[in-house]
Amino acid sequence: MTDLSNIDISDNREDLICYGFDSSFVLGVNPALVAWPRSVEEISRLLKYALEKDMSIVPRGAGTAMTGAAMPLRSNTMVISLEKMRKLLDINTKNMSVLVEPGILNGTLQKELFCLNFFYPPDPSSLNFCTLGGNVATNAGGPRAVKYGVTRDYVMELEAVLVDGTIIRCGGKTHKRVVGYDIKNLLIGSEGTLAIVTKIRLKILPLPEDVVTLLVSFQDTADAAATINKVLSSNIIPRTLEFIDKGCIKAVQSYKPNLITEAPSALLIIEIDGNIPTIKREAERVVAICNQFKGNAVLAADVYSRELIWDTRRSISPALYNLKKCKTNEDIVVPRDRIPEILLDISKISEENNTDILCFGHAGDGNIHVNILTDSREGQDKEKLERILKRLFEATLKLGGSISGEHGIGVTKAPFLSMEIPDRQITLMKEIKRVFDPQDRLNPGKIFQV
Ligand SMILES: Cc1cc2nc3c(=O)[nH]c(=O)nc-3n(C[C@H](O)[C@H](O)[C@H](O)COP(=O)(O)OP(=O)(O)OC[C@H]3O[C@@H](n4cnc5c(N)ncnc54)[C@H](O)[C@@H]3O)c2cc1C
Repeated sequence: MTDLSNIDISDNREDLICYGFDSSFVLGVNPALVAWPRSVEEISRLLKYALEKDMSIVPRGAGTAMTGAAMPLRSNTMVISLEKMRKLLDINTKNMSVLVEPGILNGTLQKELFCLNFFYPPDPSSLNFCTLGGNVATNAGGPRAVKYGVTRDYVMELEAVLVDGTIIRCGGKTHKRVVGYDIKNLLIGSEGTLAIVTKIRLKILPLPEDVVTLLVSFQDTADAAATINKVLSSNIIPRTLEFIDKGCIKAVQSYKPNLITEAPSALLIIEIDGNIPTIKREAERVVAICNQFKGNAVLAADVYSRELIWDTRRSISPALYNLKKCKTNEDIVVPRDRIPEILLDISKISEENNTDILCFGHAGDGNIHVNILTDSREGQDKEKLERILKRLFEATLKLGGSISGEHGIGVTKAPFLSMEIPDRQITLMKEIKRVFDPQDRLNPGKIFQV
């Protein structure tokens, strides 16, 4: 039997309860064991032990997954929490790369890099409490994705442990490479179902000379949607273009009253970064577009005002929990030019079902967070929720979109996978899963419905 001495593990009930759910608040089951390894060798030993004991394994970062991806579904599960592997191992400004352990918070890396005049572009709104390992496993995006892309665009190399305890390295220190099948990219976004990521080498970029932040208010949502289209087709690439609807604004107003004082129907947060003369010119053009659609643009005068605007944006998700007992957050994405249509579809679905559906999100890349508020997830509410989700995904796919722009599939969207992915491709995916994990022990029940 593999020796687990010197590895932090617990089967105390209070620990097991803490690792039996994630931010989806869909109930999983408590695991049988939680482990907090501090090295890749410890993870390798834990996986060998799990094999001997026929246990399932759920790798876990900070548990901010919105899809149930980080929670166990079987009781004989070992949760491997990466939260104690949080070292920033190397910063190489000449190669413009960093090497990190998976449990480091995204926000911690951002702060370290800022001091060196560099930045790591993917910035999920959860950056202050989600891990880079979780970001890799979900291919996380964020507000800056509209200009800079998502996690996958920045991962150069991964070290990972396979289900039998074998340690592999894929990718490397170079900024490009084309050698055989790309296993590194297969692991990115695989939601902990293929391997456990234990080291990550990421590209970093020099900080832009300056950033302009505009908060634009509209009395009519259609005008905000038209502005998004117009800005994106004006040969300007904003670094963020975020949308917030009336319901979300109201929720933030009652959650943190000092953040927004007026009551518009929609807000856009538009940021442009780059060289000072260029962004000044571009900001003037963006303000003119906003005015054309009756938007009132206010410029953040300093770092403090910019932070206040982002505090507003990042408060939406917690604020929505105050409105109703259950919030189901979907992250659909449509082609950028179809945003006005999907917003109209969503408001129709909301009316038809007599249910509050509130929207905000990364409109610049067509990615809208759709929040369905219900009193429960049981009985009639459950049926209604299923009906709404089906209608939402049908409308999204009809516009050429996808059912997930950044959160992934996890458990909650597994029943809808086949709406988007043809059967032959699902079979191919399942065959890949079997190659990595023949006994289905790594994060079972995720992505594919059981
Ligand atoms: C308020 C809020 C705002 C959010 N905003 C965004 C956003 O803007 N953009 C966005 O993309 N997401 C967002 N999310 C979702 C979530 O933060 C991301 O999916 C994030 O990447 C998850 O990181 P985590 O460390 O919490 O991972 P967890 O939730 O712990 O795990 C997520 C998945 O990754 C797997 N995993 C974790 N670590 C590893 C590892 N080392 N090796 C292998 N698999 C692993 C888990 O098994 C699970 O499948 C938000 C969530 C919240 C609560």
